[in-house]
Amino acid sequence: RGEVEFDDINFSYDGKRPALVHFSLKVPAGSTVAFVGPTGAGKSTALSLLHRMWDAQSGVVRIDGVDHRDIRLESLRANIGVVFQDSTMFYRSIADNLRIGKPNATQAELEEAAKLAEAHDFIMRQPQGYETLVGERGTTLSGGERQRLAIARALLKNPPILILDEATSALDSVTEARIQKALKVLMQGRTTFVIAHRLSTIREADQVVVFEHGRVVEHGAYKELIARG
Ligand code: ADP
Ligand code: ADP
Repeated sequence: RGEVEFDDINFSYDGKRPALVHFSLKVPAGSTVAFVGPTGAGKSTALSLLHRMWDAQSGVVRIDGVDHRDIRLESLRANIGVVFQDSTMFYRSIADNLRIGKPNATQAELEEAAKLAEAHDFIMRQPQGYETLVGERGTTLSGGERQRLAIARALLKNPPILILDEATSALDSVTEARIQKALKVLMQGRTTFVIAHRLSTIREADQVVVFEHGRVVEHGAYKELIARG
């Protein structure tokens, strides 16, 4: 479960300038694909089409062989987890933020997910632990902390498909290592799309897709791309 296919997608935000041109890609269930290429090349556009932030002007996205427009939007989105470094945290408690992925999660489940996401320690250092309020008039969380909460939230949601945007802003190396560890746990067994910034991620991906001006200019395993020069 979780095979994704983009079949000849054409998309433009304004109907003039193309953001994606004849984009096709098949991603087997449980495998990882790294998207690379310069800013503005179309990487996030491709991923926003997956969870139907927008629909393409032509082409089909299929999940397990089904045109994703035939899946109820709610259940489509329940099947896709999204983790960004600046993942949104609502002005509510840490527990509320974690439960977005699984509203009826028990406290024990929250803690288990937070531990796997390397987030439990810093949550326990907050004035009211899991009940600490975040954002406006609450506690301030760093980018690395918010990312780990987003990972915990995704673990609770437990979707077959993941969208990750690797951090571009600097984190200290300890935090960086903990986030990498947590992401590995999260990616295990899930179809993962990662907008990759680290060489290690690109190396470990099953497929690498290089975008330029809305087109795929290189596609293959890292080793193949290197061999081709
Ligand atoms: P990348 O993720 O590779 O940096 P994007 O997919 O964000 O690239 O952008 C592809 C193209 O679409 C760029 O020309 C960008 O300016 C444009 N674009 C991206 N998002 C929007 C948007 N919400 N509205 C209009 N144009 C957009
Ligand atoms: P922007 O991307 O517009 O600069 P921010 O990065 O400040 O916005 O915030 C993005 C989201 O993350 C907002 O919904 C905000 O509620 C939340 N957020 C911002 N800072 C924090 C923080 N320190 N702790 C928890 N949530 C935050």
